[in-house]
Amino acid sequence: RAKQDSRGVFRFFERSLDAAARKRRQLELDLREALQGGQFRLNFQPIFDLKKDRIGGFEALLRWEHPTRGNVPPVEFISVAENTGLIIAIGDWVMQEACRHAIAWPDDVRVAVNVSPLQFRNSGFANVIFQALSRSGLAANRLEIEITESVFLDGETMVVNLLHQLRAMGVRVALDDFGTGYSSLSYLRSFPFDKIKIDKSFINAVAEDPSAAAIVRAIVDLATALDMETTAEGVEDREQLAELRGQGCSSIQGYLFSRPIEGGAVVAMIAGPMSAVA
Ligand code: C2E
Ligand code: MG
Ligand code: MG
Ligand code: MG
Repeated sequence: RAKQDSRGVFRFFERSLDAAARKRRQLELDLREALQGGQFRLNFQPIFDLKKDRIGGFEALLRWEHPTRGNVPPVEFISVAENTGLIIAIGDWVMQEACRHAIAWPDDVRVAVNVSPLQFRNSGFANVIFQALSRSGLAANRLEIEITESVFLDGETMVVNLLHQLRAMGVRVALDDFGTGYSSLSYLRSFPFDKIKIDKSFINAVAEDPSAAAIVRAIVDLATALDMETTAEGVEDREQLAELRGQGCSSIQGYLFSRPIEGGAVVAMIAGPMSAVA
């Protein structure tokens, strides 16, 4: 009887969930399984250094190959992983895996890892980085974490302290998706980032739209004055490249040079010809 009751309650609960909520819940269950079942892997997108004329590093990008859903893009599952706290375990895996790959690359090639706000603010985060570095044997200065300014929304002092702690270990820090948030400029004063990544929404139009070009120029000049590097995200054509080069942008990332590639193809790309930007 008690069993029947609880099943009844369960059915009622199921019915009352709207379709979107049910979909999210299934996605959450699938995400838990993905981590256990080894359905995640990393792809790597090269970041081409315009000053040194070579690949300076690769950004690790999470890929989920679900047995029936197929390839699920990060925009569809990162926010669910954040809302459920799963991003902490997933992010831990990403950090270990990124460092494990990078140790096989030449010493002058870095790996950049995206870190979500919840993961960054979790008390074990410094230890996650320490563990990933020590297990892989990767030098700290070959690891760059990418954070967005949303990490500062709450408890800025704690965030800045942690950034200084990571910096003291030798880890580099990049500010991702720059220009899309609220008060970007104040965050530039609170911590000396190694790099600013200019969001692709500005880069898309940089070759045609004078106001986009003016904004990118202002960001590059500001970063240069603050002794920070710049990476233009989402560079897709030669006109954009020419404009960015002329503006003194330090590096580019985008389909023009290469899409994200499999981990096993990285070493060959580093050794191969760099014709795309010549
Ligand atoms: P992001 O960190 O800004 O990464 C850049 C995104 O732009 C990647 O999308 C990349 O594939 C895409 N992209 C690169 N070049 C071009 C281009 O020329 N044109 C266009 N249209 N797109 C380009 P992706 O891999 O789908 O990742 C989307 C976002 O998901 C990332 O944005 C990042 O915020 C998040 N993400 C990806 N992997 C991770 C991860 O391991 N952890 C966390 N927390 N977030 C991740
Ligand atoms: Mg990024
Ligand atoms: Mg970005
Ligand atoms: Mg972006």
